[in-house]
Amino acid sequence: MVQTPGQARRSLPDFATGQAKRLLINGVWVEAGSGETIESVDPATGAPLAPLALAGAADVDLAVAAARRALEGDWGAFRPADRARVLSRLADLIEDRAEEFAAIDAVDMGAPIMTARWMASNAVSTFRYAAGQALTIHGDTIEHSQTRSMFAYSLKEPVGVVGSIIPWNGPLFAAAWKLAPALAAGCTVVLKPAEQAALTPLLLGELCIEAGLPPGTVNVVTGDGVAGAALTEHRGVDKIAFTGSTATGRRVIKGSAGTIKRLTLELGGKSPHIVFADADLDRAAQAAAMGAFTLSGQVCAAGTRLYVERDVCDEFTERVARITRSLRVGDPLDDQTVLGPLVSREQFDRVSAYVKTGSEQGASAISGDLPKAQEQFGDGFFVPPTLFTGVTDEMTIAQEEIFGPVLSAIPFDGVDDVLTKANNTPYGLAAGVWTQDVSRALEMTRGLRAGMVFVNNYGASDPAVPFGGYKMSGYGRENGRAAIEAYLETKSVWMEAAS
Ligand code: NDP
Repeated sequence: MVQTPGQARRSLPDFATGQAKRLLINGVWVEAGSGETIESVDPATGAPLAPLALAGAADVDLAVAAARRALEGDWGAFRPADRARVLSRLADLIEDRAEEFAAIDAVDMGAPIMTARWMASNAVSTFRYAAGQALTIHGDTIEHSQTRSMFAYSLKEPVGVVGSIIPWNGPLFAAAWKLAPALAAGCTVVLKPAEQAALTPLLLGELCIEAGLPPGTVNVVTGDGVAGAALTEHRGVDKIAFTGSTATGRRVIKGSAGTIKRLTLELGGKSPHIVFADADLDRAAQAAAMGAFTLSGQVCAAGTRLYVERDVCDEFTERVARITRSLRVGDPLDDQTVLGPLVSREQFDRVSAYVKTGSEQGASAISGDLPKAQEQFGDGFFVPPTLFTGVTDEMTIAQEEIFGPVLSAIPFDGVDDVLTKANNTPYGLAAGVWTQDVSRALEMTRGLRAGMVFVNNYGASDPAVPFGGYKMSGYGRENGRAAIEAYLETKSVWMEAAS
């Protein structure tokens, strides 16, 4: 039973149920050419939601052609101020329907409604920020050392047609992080959401039309990896912006190599969260739990390796365990729920297998009782937040991205030891450090090989601040100036007097 005892479950949002969803191509909702659909389910109950059109390569062709026409036609004629206006309008429209967006992400991917509300408000601010950015694009006039009769300057131009491929964790804000800078830069987009959670990107597509984006500027093609691969290899696509697993990221690099596409990749992570003995341990414990378990661990930047200075390790880990045990797991539509289910049966099986491996390899779960959760939640895909102690760096649970609510606590002895341990991973997305010693904080922020370092907090995010990783966590940045730059080409112009 997913609902709170004695309380009826809140009704599902209309958009999430009923008729099959169609593809948005050239401003019109159409069925997939094959007529095929894929199932989408409510992960809290395993019950079906509205099916999705299954796009194939032919549908991707149509969407790319529509995006090209918009780029060379109506959308291409929009000046920066026109783009800013339409992006602002889109932000307002999302804000007006934020509660609906949140409820859809709650039933479609299992995001607790309180987290889904944050995701909706983040999408709003992302479009607002992009509206401002559209007005700031400029090239340079350049002092050079050639003849003085020549004048050199650079122009910034949109990269062109962008294929945006997003995962299932946070579909609305992942879509916003891709669409907003692309549109601000003047690009057109074919958006491919993940098959497990595509409903909010589809509703966003509806609002793009309502906001006044010309047909073809934003197209949404639902489907599986076939549609993603078709987009990646397509000759008519100039850039791929991808968020997802490192394994699929590698396929995207290979698939796009034939046409030398521009590429930005936001991939996996196994981020260290480091607590020194002098830290504010109450705040750090809260952050350690939420940094790992928010969205049931389905967060690329989750702090899943908890390094604690040896002197305080046992005591601190127990504090984190107490917080973990108090986190309310349940119906994502319930306002009181802190953690919902995992997105799919497949993800449930995958994460459950990691929990078993952790125990088999000798770690001890001091919170989280998987069999009990299965009994409690029946057909829902719930894994309780699980904190392991007795973990060593070689164990599978300390090495691999689990993408579920599994946290490994590991003791360390001093700065050098923890830097070696923290950096001993192919990933480099995020890292957290808790200490009251400023010198040590500076040493740690310089020493950590990660695209984002949080000091005395974990997981802060803002549209103005770059987000992305080092090493196998990808390249390019979302948010901030870097994001829009990744959707712009630079054209150098040498101008000389005609006579
Ligand atoms: P994927 O990386 O496979 O999916 C991300 C997106 O890529 C989806 O839209 C997917 O479509 C699409 N895709 C799949 N195959 C291709 C391809 N060959 N070319 C282009 N696009 C493709 O993630 P999964 O959903 O399979 O999740 C697997 C694991 O990846 C998770 O358990 C987690 O560890 C990790 N992950 C990490 C994320 C992160 O942000 N770091 C996000 C999501 C997952 P479709 O889903 O419809 O097949």
